Amino acid sequence: MGLFKRVLTRRNLAVIVIGVLLAGIPLVVADLWIGAMIDRQGQAEVVAVAKRAVGLAEMRVDQVIGALDALAVDKGAACREDHVMAMRRAAFATMPIKEISVVASDGTTLCTDLDLPLGKRNELSREPLHGADGHWLDVLVLENGERMIRLRRKPGADGNSIAALVPTVVLLPQVANQGGKFNGGARISTSAGSVITAVGQSTPADAGRFTERVVSGKYGFIADSWMPRAPFFAEQTDLKWLGAYIAAAIILTLLGSRVLLPRRVENDPISDLKRALKAGEFVPYYQPIVDIRSGQLRGAEVLVRWRKPDGSLVFPGAFIPLAESSGLIRAMTCDLMRKVCVEAGAVLGQRPGLKISFNFAGKLFSDATIVKDVRSIFANTPIKLSQVVLEVTERDPIENFTETRQIIAALQGLGVRIAIDDVGTGHSGLSYMLKLGVDIIKIDKMFVDAIGTDRNSTTIVETLVDLAHNMRMDVVAEGVENFEQVTHLRELGIRSAQGYVFAPPLPGSAFLQLVEAIDPIQGAEAVEPKEAA
Ligand code: C2E
Ligand code: CA
Ligand code: CA
Repeated sequence: MGLFKRVLTRRNLAVIVIGVLLAGIPLVVADLWIGAMIDRQGQAEVVAVAKRAVGLAEMRVDQVIGALDALAVDKGAACREDHVMAMRRAAFATMPIKEISVVASDGTTLCTDLDLPLGKRNELSREPLHGADGHWLDVLVLENGERMIRLRRKPGADGNSIAALVPTVVLLPQVANQGGKFNGGARISTSAGSVITAVGQSTPADAGRFTERVVSGKYGFIADSWMPRAPFFAEQTDLKWLGAYIAAAIILTLLGSRVLLPRRVENDPISDLKRALKAGEFVPYYQPIVDIRSGQLRGAEVLVRWRKPDGSLVFPGAFIPLAESSGLIRAMTCDLMRKVCVEAGAVLGQRPGLKISFNFAGKLFSDATIVKDVRSIFANTPIKLSQVVLEVTERDPIENFTETRQIIAALQGLGVRIAIDDVGTGHSGLSYMLKLGVDIIKIDKMFVDAIGTDRNSTTIVETLVDLAHNMRMDVVAEGVENFEQVTHLRELGIRSAQGYVFAPPLPGSAFLQLVEAIDPIQGAEAVEPKEAA
């Protein structure tokens, strides 16, 4: 009570009032200004998203119609072998196409370019494609739930038409304009109003403060985009509360009280990653890749681990997504490559036949300066660029196809080889990925698990292997866990495999010992493994 009386003197009360006024005025002004800025930015964001959506959809549909027209002039619509070959060539040459097929008048698929078993296709809508005489646009859902559009040419005399399936995900930008996660939603529909696909939050009507609709001049596509105002309100409310706290802090400072010193909590996961990167806590593990015919070692895939100071090991699934979204992935990947050069350079350099693979996030293929980085990291190390393989996963959507293809070509120009990882699991479709001109395909564990038990998967793997061999690509099977699978893979003509049946990802020292043991260099002294810096 005594303390209370001492604090609440008339002079102190005046100080409190002045403090509130001093702290409050700038906060009110700042609040208004920030509110107006948020409005402008929010509206600009949704406008840009809708415009990008229309541009993307028009471009993709242009490409597909061009391919279908060329094919129809050449061959009409039939399931003869020569025609199926022509369809296959057209599907490979045209980026967004996942499959070309011949479709009967009732919508039944008669044959496809890939000779794969036909899954059920659920037709959601069909309508003439606005602005493109003689073409139809159907929206379908495949058995696995994937949504597709089917662009069809006008049927011939037999009632059959030639059609291309295109995954709807390639018709709508999947990220915000700045490249991060879009905080709202977007939808693209046909001119007749059938929804083709949507991304993000699905509540445009929910008092969405920012909304935009753009209609395509060419094919009549309608792109809607929206962004809720709610998160911004929340931020603004925070701001007002922050204002009250600051006012209180000013008052208390004026009063000379030391009770409420602002405490900063350092608990930001991105700062954590940065700190760990600086401290060298990301280390390479190596999973051997084995020749399943001869049993020889072909190389290894580098898989990153976060070794914390307390000795615990964190797996990549827990931090790679954040490293990618925060932009740290490039520094992390380069750091990993440097560590491999230090730790395994001598051993790999003595065995030029061994390959060393690195996982390259899709993002790394959007900046051409990565080519220089790769060259300089391996320059003056015993590892030759012809030993290096970079894996790009089919799971990451490719934002800019032309640029990615150029960067891949530049890397291949250095002698580096490019692999597609997780084949069969991504959205893009294999034919799309193959147009990147890669050297190796890695068949995902999902298919390896199903070989021998599931006929569809076995056929898919057979087709992949055929395709790879025709296109002079190597095939690596991933996630091989037992010898029965090894036998099946061998029968299918696959040569390289990795998986727990041979070895799990190993720490550097164990991997180097393994290499020395199974692939000794005659007459050479054993190389002392260096610990990565
Ligand atoms: P991934 O590239 O598909 O790597 C294969 C994953 O399967 C690895 O998981 C590996 O430990 C695991 N694996 C290998 N053989 C078997 C098996 O026989 N059975 C089973 N069940 N699993 C097996 P890990 O190390 O947890 O890596 C997960 C993913 O994290 C990788 O998948 C890759 O996409 C990503 N990743 C790892 N290191 C890096 C990196 O340096 N950069 C980037 N961008 N991504 C990385
Ligand atoms: Ca990989
Ligand atoms: Ca994989």
